[in-house]
Amino acid sequence: MRLILMIVSASLVLGGCAAHHGAKGDPEVDAESHARGEGKTPEENRVPAVAAGDEQPDEDLVEASPEKVHARERPHELFAPLNLPTASERRLASGAPGPDYWQQRVDYTIDAELNADEQHLDADMVVRYHNNSPHELTYLWIQLEQNLFKDDSLGTLSRSRGGVMREADEPLSGGYTITKVCSGNRKLEFTVYDTLGRLELPEPIEAGECFTFEMSYSFEMPPHLRRMGAEEVDQGTIFEYAQWFPHVCVYDDVYGWNTLPYLGTGEFYTNYGDFDVRVTVPRDHLVAATGVLQNPEEVMTSSQMSRLLEAMGSEETVVIREADEVADPGSRPAGEGPLTWHFKASDVRTFAWASSESFLWDACAAKITDLEGDARLVLCQSLYPVEAEEAWGPEAEQGGSSQYVKHAIEFYSDWLHPYPYPVMSNINGPEGGMEYPMIVFCGGRKGRGPYGVTDHEVGHTWFPMIVNTDERRHIWMDEGFNTFINGYSNAAFRERQAELHGEDADHGGRRRTGRGGRGWRSASRETSHPIAVPADHMDGRNVGALGYSKTGVGLRILREHVLGEERFDTAFQEYIRRWVFKSPQPADFFRTMEDAAGADLAWFWRGWFYETGVLDFGISNVSVEDGTLRFIVNSYGEQVMPVEYEIVYGDGSSERGFVPVQAWFSSNEKLVRKVIGERAVVRIAVDPEGVLPDADEGDNVWGEREEEGE
Ligand SMILES: [Zn+2]
Repeated sequence: MRLILMIVSASLVLGGCAAHHGAKGDPEVDAESHARGEGKTPEENRVPAVAAGDEQPDEDLVEASPEKVHARERPHELFAPLNLPTASERRLASGAPGPDYWQQRVDYTIDAELNADEQHLDADMVVRYHNNSPHELTYLWIQLEQNLFKDDSLGTLSRSRGGVMREADEPLSGGYTITKVCSGNRKLEFTVYDTLGRLELPEPIEAGECFTFEMSYSFEMPPHLRRMGAEEVDQGTIFEYAQWFPHVCVYDDVYGWNTLPYLGTGEFYTNYGDFDVRVTVPRDHLVAATGVLQNPEEVMTSSQMSRLLEAMGSEETVVIREADEVADPGSRPAGEGPLTWHFKASDVRTFAWASSESFLWDACAAKITDLEGDARLVLCQSLYPVEAEEAWGPEAEQGGSSQYVKHAIEFYSDWLHPYPYPVMSNINGPEGGMEYPMIVFCGGRKGRGPYGVTDHEVGHTWFPMIVNTDERRHIWMDEGFNTFINGYSNAAFRERQAELHGEDADHGGRRRTGRGGRGWRSASRETSHPIAVPADHMDGRNVGALGYSKTGVGLRILREHVLGEERFDTAFQEYIRRWVFKSPQPADFFRTMEDAAGADLAWFWRGWFYETGVLDFGISNVSVEDGTLRFIVNSYGEQVMPVEYEIVYGDGSSERGFVPVQAWFSSNEKLVRKVIGERAVVRIAVDPEGVLPDADEGDNVWGEREEEGE
């Protein structure tokens, strides 16, 4: 018996059901691309969410040569063990930090004064360097990231297309002026090389010793090129300070001194430490910073203090300073001259702050459960100019910034690890989106604009603020992990919004892997380089596609398609538990995931993170003979994945089958045989729900076209 079947263009077949996969306009996709506020200028972030979150143009993605993809000639090579660094008692084969793991610690005391009119900052700093390594150190390397903002910096001179450093309108005259480097009364030799400085030690720092030195420095606020800057707004100037103090490079067991220069795109790798910071600013300014304010009675009015106290226990947002108070001198403590705001922070990897006379201020409390099971409140506060009030204030359509911060802190604390700090501040100013411990700078001043970027920046608390990765080398462990967790937070937020407004939550694309979105596209095309490349080494146009989106989609596939949610979450939570307040390397992540999930995933890490190949499945060689259906599931791509297939019969019934990844160990073809008796087969589809990014969907379906009304 032979079947006669209508074979139609499979792209039409899939095109016909695209809507149910969530195509353009899918909130999932919107959220994913929207979350990357970091890659956008503030102007781009200030358009309404629907536009801001719209898919980015294809030309953003730099593709490899358009040769036809082909399967591996030697498929087993994909499954070989990864070439990871040899495990040691510092970093175990299980992926956990071992008994000999160590990391340095650096504490800072900084006294800074802002001359707002001149946009000039002067600071004195005391640094206590704790040498926890088993080694004697004879010099220290210091990061001088502010030196990027010079006309002749390596970052300025090498700026590439798509990189985050924007062109300045005028010649750059930024960078540190360092007026003092000493230890006690002893002047120290200090040599500057672009964004690095080498500090000669008067005598070696022995293992276990602490060395204290002092520096004085100043710099002019650079034009806003990235991550910090000043912005004139209606009622004043907003100053955002980050990378604003010289800090000691990381000395670790993997690279020794980590001295990659700051070129602009690659972010940061820093030491944990305690910060004791005083910033002196004009009396009419409000300041928010990493850390807990130590002297509220000196810098706030009594009514502001009582409103803040109310907010600290309130789920609802409490206004601390409203629009018509901004220009009112009564909203600042009486007196003359500048005020000093004093903050302390423990166990943070850096310190940032913002200051302005234009700030409105509101706050609420997030409720989280600590590891010990005790409830704890976290102050979620927002400071923004009047221009942003409509989108940021408590009257905003979706609740406003402080509620977005609260949602993110509660969601990620519940899923991943309790938020470890007492406060989180969200600042609206020149920066479109950047994360620091306990403070984030977010753009967006209209509509739903601030939600996605706020969720993303607060999400960075988990990666890299408390799992302290080397962002300069491994952008995917920072942005990619964050993009991955953001997808779930955004879905939960949408559900809550729908509940509040009595609507049906849109579940349409919730469990999909962002099909049709930028992440899905970047994963279904061969790109010019793999994910595992330092951000500064990438074509800038690929940073978002690979470092953020493709990584996010990959982890989502690993969770929902390869391991399953429970197995993935157990392993991912183990990774966080092992490495919280420590610095994992990629190998520590791969090993922990395999160890805790009980799975050999070398093929996944290699295919997804270290190679540029794509997935490409197909159905071929369909025949029915003597009541037995035979067909081949082909894996044409260089990457592989476990994959489902679906057989649809003439009587309308259907059944699913599964090809495990082990089927691809030695072959790119999997013959499926099925006794079907007298039934007619009308359709066979591989990956019938389209959960995998397939480079060529044209051959994914054999048989009848699915059409509405059929
Ligand atoms: Zn980010």
